[in-house]
Amino acid sequence: MNEVLIVGSVALDSVETPVGRIDNALGGAATYGSIAASLFAPVHLVGVVGEDFPQEHLDFLKKRNVDLAGLQIIKGGNTFRWKGDYNADLNQAVTHETQLGVFEHFEPKLPENYRDAQYVFLANINPELQLSTLEQVKQPKLVLCDTMNLWINIAREHVLEVFRRVDIAVLNDGEARLLTDQGNIIAAGRQLLDLGPRAIIIKKGEHGALMFSKGEHPASLSEGIDIFSAPSYPLEQVVDPTGAGDSFAGAFIGYLAKTDDLSMQNLRRAVVYGSVVASTTVQDFSTASLAALTPDSIAYRYGYVREMSKF
Ligand code: AMP
Repeated sequence: MNEVLIVGSVALDSVETPVGRIDNALGGAATYGSIAASLFAPVHLVGVVGEDFPQEHLDFLKKRNVDLAGLQIIKGGNTFRWKGDYNADLNQAVTHETQLGVFEHFEPKLPENYRDAQYVFLANINPELQLSTLEQVKQPKLVLCDTMNLWINIAREHVLEVFRRVDIAVLNDGEARLLTDQGNIIAAGRQLLDLGPRAIIIKKGEHGALMFSKGEHPASLSEGIDIFSAPSYPLEQVVDPTGAGDSFAGAFIGYLAKTDDLSMQNLRRAVVYGSVVASTTVQDFSTASLAALTPDSIAYRYGYVREMSKF
């Protein structure tokens, strides 16, 4: 079975949404990504936490088939903490406080057996750390990356360098506009594709996701690019959108690792799995609903999305 290597933040999050709030809960891009990917394939996690990181979270991740040999636990150090809230549209988090803690001096060091990973997810983290992780991997079949507005604002060149080095990049519509200066999402998709990746996935919250790829179909849609449009699973209430993007990406790459099929048709299925798993994450605070997700529920939502978009 192919394993997924994931590098990114492991965090304690304090989040306020229109529905309520939670303090110092399990969070972080690599955390959400790993839990989601582990629904499909075993995961190797690369990250860092402090001694204050609760043992119960480590036990939970281990139970989920997430290998923590690459998670550094720094004696006397403080875990990365993020505090944010969401305004009415729930699609964009507003960061109130970021305490870097052990992240400040973090250097990813991959255990020897991680270097052969075939499926690599560079989750949200400083893009220089994404690049240094990539340097340590031998010959991956697929590298996926994510980013956030902070890095686009303060480390744009490094973010662009990551995009040039990956097979697929996933980001939300606001980030795509910010990174390209294109107001139009189709134009942004094309511009990002021109950086080199085989596909660009732009998520649009409750409005679904678009996947742009270089035209592989005989009748490519728009001057050499194909566009796949996947709806989101319909929800009438979102409790906490934190981690939606990370769990989308985790499920996407987890499904690809499980099936080991990188055809465009299978990438499309993976987008729908990503969307379905993300729809569960947002139904409760922190990782609660994602952790409770079952294969039956994934299959039900996947079938539902297929039915609702059939014509
Ligand atoms: P998202 O999927 O975009 O909602 O990601 C939310 C996660 O990103 C939260 O659990 C945060 O801990 C994490 N996060 C927030 N800021 C940063 C940052 N600067 N670097 C890495 N991770 C972050």
